[in-house]
Amino acid sequence: MARVVVSGGAGFIGSHLCDVLLSQGHEVIAVDNLFTGTKRNIRHLKDNPNFEFLRHDVTEPILLECDFLYHLACPASPVHYQYNPIKTIKTNVTGTINMLGVAKRTHARFFLASTSEVYGDPLQHPQKESYWGNVNPIGPRSCYDEGKRVAETLTVNYKEQGHVDTRIVRIFNTYGPRMLFNDGRVVSNFIVQALRGEDITVYGEGQQTRSFCFVDDLVAGFIATMNKEDFHGPVNLGNPNEMTIKALADKVIEMTGSKSKIIHKPLPTDDPTRRQPDISLAKKELGWQPKVDLETGLKKTIADFEERLRNGEEPR
Ligand code: NAD
Ligand code: UDP
Repeated sequence: MARVVVSGGAGFIGSHLCDVLLSQGHEVIAVDNLFTGTKRNIRHLKDNPNFEFLRHDVTEPILLECDFLYHLACPASPVHYQYNPIKTIKTNVTGTINMLGVAKRTHARFFLASTSEVYGDPLQHPQKESYWGNVNPIGPRSCYDEGKRVAETLTVNYKEQGHVDTRIVRIFNTYGPRMLFNDGRVVSNFIVQALRGEDITVYGEGQQTRSFCFVDDLVAGFIATMNKEDFHGPVNLGNPNEMTIKALADKVIEMTGSKSKIIHKPLPTDDPTRRQPDISLAKKELGWQPKVDLETGLKKTIADFEERLRNGEEPR
């Protein structure tokens, strides 16, 4: 049994990670400022003696003791990370330094949740870890994209200079139960709109592509990466099943039996045109690949949203 810190542990992915770590018998400390995370995501863990929640902002220093530290704290949806871009940069820079500092002091193994956004609007397809990316440093997404790029740089430098045992994963679009209704990301938007009978908002013509990974697969990839000896990444984690956003809208309408119709809204600035992970490195080094197909993952996600809507859950 190890003591594991999960920053961002009350968020969408972080709360699923806490569940799996606890089920494996570990002691888990979730550190979260509840900006986009909610206590609801970890409510079921309240009475678990191996679980502890600390309401804390990672941009402030903190003293923690741990063996492993998963650093996920950072808003992930464009709507939320653009709400206060300076704060997003502080979270990625100061927050990552603080979490790396904890790992250095306690000799914990450190894991950075980076992103496919480090590839920007990619000129190579699919994206391999060796690709350096095509990122606009002054656009609306740059607080997040450049923030995560610096977080990767910090992680590499703490490994080289600070002798911290680090891991970097680049996460591609992930979906599943517990995403916020007002998250603003495409899967949650489409499901909520379909279930409420509202118009489905496809940005642009919907010909841009993404590749969607179910959260359980992603968390399995996190744990495989953390537990692999002498492997530091960066490694892509995602589902290579690429599709257009229009095809996703059609799929959600079909699966919910919704009468919603598709409307088009302007494509956001710097919205990447295509995105698909090359996961050969994860397959080779970790023996990992996604197991859950889109239909199965969407079914579970839709069921979760239906239940929460039925229970009258507030957006936050
Ligand atoms: P999320 O917004 O649900 O989770 C982020 C969590 O971090 C939230 O609980 C939030 O309250 C917390 N947080 C934000 N700023 C903080 C701060 N300053 N101090 C403490 N806590 C803070 O998003 P998610 O989808 O669960 O993403 C988790 C991580 O994975 C993020 O680092 C994100 O960048 C990365 N990621 C996610 C995706 C995806 O598709 N979901 C893709 C790429 C990368
Ligand atoms: N998108 C959309 N309608 C929505 C929300 C998003 O068409 O209601 C599009 C968005 O323009 C992008 C894709 O879906 O092309 C994925 O968007 P998301 O915000 O989920 O993630 P990211 O752009 O960071 O991959």
